[in-house]
This record gives sequence, structure tokens and C-alpha cells, in this order.
Amino acid sequence: MTDPQIAIPSRAPSATTVDDTVMPFEVAKLDLSGRVVRLGPAVDEILARHAYPQPVAKLLGEAIVLTVMLGSAVKIDGRFILQTRSDGPVRMLVVDFITPDKVRACAHFDKSRVAAAIVSGNTGGGELLGKGHLAMTIDQGPDMSRYQGLVALDGSSLEDVAHEYFLRSEQIPTRVRLAVAEELSAEAGGTRHRWRAGGMMLQFLPKAPERARVADLDPGDAPEGTAPHAIEEDDAWVEGQALISTVEDLELIDPSLSSERLVYRLFHEPGVRVFRASPLRAQCSCSRANVEAMLKSFSQDDRDHMVEDGKISVTCEFCSANYEFAPADVGAKFS
Ligand SMILES: [Zn+2]
Repeated sequence: MTDPQIAIPSRAPSATTVDDTVMPFEVAKLDLSGRVVRLGPAVDEILARHAYPQPVAKLLGEAIVLTVMLGSAVKIDGRFILQTRSDGPVRMLVVDFITPDKVRACAHFDKSRVAAAIVSGNTGGGELLGKGHLAMTIDQGPDMSRYQGLVALDGSSLEDVAHEYFLRSEQIPTRVRLAVAEELSAEAGGTRHRWRAGGMMLQFLPKAPERARVADLDPGDAPEGTAPHAIEEDDAWVEGQALISTVEDLELIDPSLSSERLVYRLFHEPGVRVFRASPLRAQCSCSRANVEAMLKSFSQDDRDHMVEDGKISVTCEFCSANYEFAPADVGAKFS
């Protein structure tokens, strides 16, 4: 908390929108902390390259915003990985955030089931994912232990999944907003599509932990007839939730509304302090050396089966980079 003796310089919110950034903020009066994510070229580069069906791209865009939001808050050197596995038309989403600023992502989906979902209009995130689980993994390298948090997917949106994750795993009252859209602009040669994405996270972090209790915990397997355990939420958190619930998708992606103006719009009354925004970029971490090491870790039989037309060819799922090897270089035999 800030020392009241130290004057904090105060200024008007910047009107300049900076894409591909994460900006932390704090509303000290309400014990709230948060982050605003704005993605322009970075999310467009990833989604445009994959050219997935529109609802799959939108869902992956939401996962990218969520991953960047959480990964940039973790004080580690390494990778923060969000991965889903589920039985819906989109079987798997993978988003990698590599500290301090790189992100990459890909999706696995069933083409015909996604096409059917589009025809029937069932293209919400929860409908595309279906049932399964979402894992968040922190990987700090081969010599360090991996941390993994799991949350069930049960037809709910990624926003709701994030709330569940924070409630169960971190026990921090959290609200998340995610938005992804295609911006269309008329340019020479036709309409240009560009993906934009944005998000906001708000967390209630009071000094006294008993103030952080929340009301919406499922009673679980309590005996029948047990009265639900009613907990009155702290006034500050009630106010914080009310404020973030007013944020509209357009405000999160609008290129003319800066992150600073957005948080000022919401929290000017209690007062909001913003911190230096950190930049992000779309960049894969694959390399010829990594692919070679992976091939060498496969069984002899698997490697031999990968030989086609006298060579082994591997395409990176994230960035579509192609790596070719002579079989002998990775210990495979010509077939
Ligand atoms: Zn790659």
C-alpha cells in the first residue's frame, strides 16, 4: 500500500492507444488490482496465419487474451501454457506465453463438427469446447518443477472458466472480461480483415483475508436439506464487480479508446493508479535444433516411418515453419 506521506504524481489519462500491451492498475481505495490487455497486430498475425473458421479463431483469440493476462502476471522466467482438451468441435487449444513478451497459439478441431456448429448457430465458446478440462502450466525449464492448475470445462465460457479457476485454485475473488472481433476496413483491392482482442482482469486483494470470501461457491455434496451457506460479499468487491460488469466488448477492442482512458472511465471515482504497460509480440519459439532434438527422442521405428521421398519434413503447428532433415542426420533409415 502507498505511504500517504509520499505524494504520487497524478495526471490525465493518456489518449494514445498502444496495441499489443498489458497494463496493470490498482484501485487502492477498494483493494482492487487488475490488468488491461490490448492486442492488435500480435493477435492478427496469429489468427490470420492459421485461417481457422471464424468461431474457432475467435475462441482461440479469447484464450490468447486470457493467457497473456495471466502469464504476464506470473513472476517467472519460462513458459506459461494454457491448454484445453475437450469433447466438443474444438478438441484442443494451446497458447504459450514465453516470458517476457512472446506469445504463440494453435487449435485442433473437427472440421465437419465446426461447420455443423456454424450452421446451427451454436458457436459460443462453451459450445465449441464441450466437456473436458483446461490446464494452466508454469514451466521454468527442465530442472525446475512444473506447476499445474486444472479446471473442468462443462459448456461454460472461457470467462467463467477463469472465474472458477481463481476461486478453486488461487482462492482470489476474480472477474475477467474477454473480447475478440474482426475489424473490417475498405482498402484498395477490397475489404481488409484485421483481428483485434482485448481483456480486463479485476481481483480483490484485501489485507484481511476474511474479507475476500465470496458467495457463489457451490454447496457441493452437502446433505439434502442443508441451508445454503450465505456469505455477504465485501462492499468493495461488490462495487468492483458491478463496475467491471459494465465493460462492453467494444470498449476492450476499440482502437480509439486507450487502456488508461478505459480504466479511468470505470474507476475515476475511487481513483485509479496505472503502472507501466509491457509490450507483447507474436513469435514462435521453434527452431531447427529443437525439432532435431525432438526427432532424436522418438523411437527408431517412429523416425523410420516419418521418412517420405527420402527426407523427414516437420511443420511447426504454431507458426507453420517447415524443417527438413536428411534421414541419416536424425538417425532414421531410408524406407
Ligand atoms: Zn514455430
